[in-house]
Amino acid sequence: MTWEIKKHPLNAKGKFYIDQNSCICFDTCKSIAPNNFDYVNDDNCSHFVSKQPETAEELEQIREAIRCCPVEAILDDGETNE
Ligand code: SF4
Repeated sequence: MTWEIKKHPLNAKGKFYIDQNSCICFDTCKSIAPNNFDYVNDDNCSHFVSKQPETAEELEQIREAIRCCPVEAILDDGETNE
């Protein structure tokens, strides 16, 4: 069986995004990088990348969130941040 990645529609355009099919909503990402993650309080409490990193500090916080996400739902497609 192939796992299907579903990008959250509210993800800010850019290289980092959250896979809605994996996110289990522990809010860890928003606690680590509050400038770059947010959520909508719908039935699934969906998290998304609200802003791509604009500083080295934000980039490091996103990388820390990726390391700490319990289900590896924060992905980096390797494209430029434009
Ligand atoms: S840390 Fe991972 S599982 Fe938790 S809300 Fe963020 S993306 Fe979802």
